[in-house]
Amino acid sequence: MGMRVLLVEDEAKVSTFVSRGLTAERFAVDVARDGKTGLELAKTYEYDIIVLDLMLPGLPGTELLRQLRRTNSKVPVLVLTARDALEDKVANFEAGADDYLTKPFAFAELLVRVKALLRRGPVNRSSVIRLDNLELDRLSQQVRRAGRRIELTSKEYSLLEYMMSNAGRVLSRTMIIEHVWDKSFDGITNIVDVYVRHLRNKVDETHDRKLIRTVRGVGYVISDQAEA
Ligand code: CA
Repeated sequence: MGMRVLLVEDEAKVSTFVSRGLTAERFAVDVARDGKTGLELAKTYEYDIIVLDLMLPGLPGTELLRQLRRTNSKVPVLVLTARDALEDKVANFEAGADDYLTKPFAFAELLVRVKALLRRGPVNRSSVIRLDNLELDRLSQQVRRAGRRIELTSKEYSLLEYMMSNAGRVLSRTMIIEHVWDKSFDGITNIVDVYVRHLRNKVDETHDRKLIRTVRGVGYVISDQAEA
């Protein structure tokens, strides 16, 4: 696909398996083994995506990211982290990360995330996504409609975040499964329909203006535009 990836990872085992896998998928991969080299490469070349480990010699991943974003770089960044703590996610999101993968991970899982970020392209870095009177804050992971808090499970939240990040775009069930569920999911049940129904109950039910729409035979879209 002619995509150029920068992989910043000091752990030889991880960087070898990731770079081999990505190369086999026809990505052109540059590897940096410390933070300073990673930052230099990221500032020098135009990468389509950066896969960034957090624990790095020289310059920690979060600091690399912060400095890179200061140069106005909009390159998508997938962070690899051994930690799954919410504080870390918030700190890295604030620093400009686009997605996370917790170690250890399967290569297939990394590939799904990389492809999803590449499809999504450059993003609005604001932590709050708005659609009509619906608001989703990616830092606090809170959702409000007309100012009123909506309680969502983590899967419902991921689904809504994915849909709102792609507002106006029709998303197929396959796209939704690839992004919101992991690779181990076999994709034969109607799980997407079930979760969209939950979301509708929570997000649209009590409002005249429905934002989530079914596109028959294709999938779902969230949009503030009236149905065509
Ligand atoms: Ca490391």
